[in-house]
Amino acid sequence: MKKHLTAVLGMAMLTGMTTYHRRALVIPLFGAQAVTETTSQPQQIAKGVWFFVGDKSKGYSNTTVIEMEDYLIVVDANYPGRAKELVQIVKGLSPKPVRYVFDTHAHGDHSYGNAVWTASGATTLAFQGVALDMDKWEPTRWRQAMPKRADLRETGQNDVQRPQKLIYGHKLVLKDKMRDVEFLAFGWGHTEGDGYVWLPRERILCTGDGAVNGPYNKVIDANLTNWPKALDRVAHLRPLHVLPGHGKAGDAEILTGQAQFFRDLRRAVADDIAKGQKPPAMTVELPAADRNWVPISRPDLWQQDIATMYLELVSHKPAGSLPHEWK
Ligand SMILES: [Zn+2]
Repeated sequence: MKKHLTAVLGMAMLTGMTTYHRRALVIPLFGAQAVTETTSQPQQIAKGVWFFVGDKSKGYSNTTVIEMEDYLIVVDANYPGRAKELVQIVKGLSPKPVRYVFDTHAHGDHSYGNAVWTASGATTLAFQGVALDMDKWEPTRWRQAMPKRADLRETGQNDVQRPQKLIYGHKLVLKDKMRDVEFLAFGWGHTEGDGYVWLPRERILCTGDGAVNGPYNKVIDANLTNWPKALDRVAHLRPLHVLPGHGKAGDAEILTGQAQFFRDLRRAVADDIAKGQKPPAMTVELPAADRNWVPISRPDLWQQDIATMYLELVSHKPAGSLPHEWK
C-alpha cells in the first residue's frame, strides 16, 4: 500500500513535529560522525574542505570553505550578520586569506553579505545570471528586508553589492597544486543564475539552493519545468558528498530526491488541474519519498509551492519569469 503525505501532514499538525524531522536531528552522516546544529562548528568533509550549517532561526544559509594552495574560497556570502561571524571563524581554520567568495545565486541569504567580504579583502564571484537577477529584483527586496533584519540596517547600505567578478558561459575552473575547483551552471532551476561548485577529485558538490536537504526551498523565482532536468545533469557528476544551501550535508540522494519532489508535485498539480481544481482548494498528495522536501510545518510555503507549480502549468512559462513579489 502506498503511504501518502497527507497522512503524515495530518499527524504533523497534531504532534507539531514529524517523525522524520525528529530523526533528522540525530541522523549520523559520513559514518559515525553525527552532525550538530551548531553553526560555528564546521564539519570537515575532506582535507581543507569545511561545511557550516547556517542558523535557520536567523535565516542564514550554509557555507563551505575550500582551501587552495595560497588562499581560501568561500561558497555563499550569506547575510551580513553571518558574513561578519564567518570572517572571524575562517581565520581559525587557516591563516590563508579568503580570495574568492562565490554567490551561488542572488537571494539575500546567499549574497547580501557581499560587502562584508569585499571589505575584508575578498573578491566576490558569481555567474552573470546572478548579477542579472539582482538587477531585476534589487534594491526592492533588500529594502523590503531591512525592517526585519538589523544586520542589513547596520550595513548602512540600501542595496546588495553586486559580485565583482562575473563568470560568462557555464564553467570556470580554478586550479593549483592543492586542488581543482569548478564553478558550473546547469541552467535555470531555483533561479536563473544558479551556480554550483564541484571538486572533481574529492567528488564534493556545493549546490546552493539548486538542491536543499529539507523543506527549505523558495520556488517563486524558479523554472519548475527545467529545474529537475538541470538536477539530472548535476547528478551525472556522481558526487560522493552533496553540500546543500540549507539543511544537512548528504549524498547524491539530495539531488535525486529534490528532482523527484518537483516531478511528483508537477504530476499531482496537473492531475488536480485536470479535475478542474485551483489552488488553494487543491489537495495535493505526494509519495512518502518526497516528504523531506514538503514544508509540513509551514502551510503557507506549501501553498506557495502548489500555487507556483499551478502558475507554471497554466501559463506554460517559467514561474519566475511571471511578474511576482518576494513573499
Ligand atoms: Zn537560500
